[in-house]
Amino acid sequence: MALIKCKECGKEISDRASACPNCGCPLLEISKEGEVRIKMPNNIVQGWVGLFSSRDARVEDEEGNILWKGQHGENAKFIINRPVKVTIYLGGWANPIYGIVEPRKKYSLIQDLGVHMLATFRLTEVDLIDAD
Ligand SMILES: [Zn+2]
Repeated sequence: MALIKCKECGKEISDRASACPNCGCPLLEISKEGEVRIKMPNNIVQGWVGLFSSRDARVEDEEGNILWKGQHGENAKFIINRPVKVTIYLGGWANPIYGIVEPRKKYSLIQDLGVHMLATFRLTEVDLIDAD
């Protein structure tokens, strides 16, 4: 289950709900807005810090609201209706990733394979990501 933001009231709701329990906005309408997908990396090449880290991943907007929360290897999915500045956290495995995502687009995180204590990624727009 993933949490999405109701476009009417902004409350977090399950993507399996048929309507927002807070304001009644039908989910079908919410889904018509721009869903963004970001493939979270799975096999991260990292320095020693990663050995002690969890596999938790999350995406936040610039106010620190959580747009998506999950695990490495999953596809982050959330609904936006305008370009949003996001910060992506991959636990202690990687430096935070900053970028701007746009509605209805897909992104992948490309790892810079230089030698670092923490892995470094670039947010890159792609046409396709793995099915989920
Ligand atoms: Zn609502």
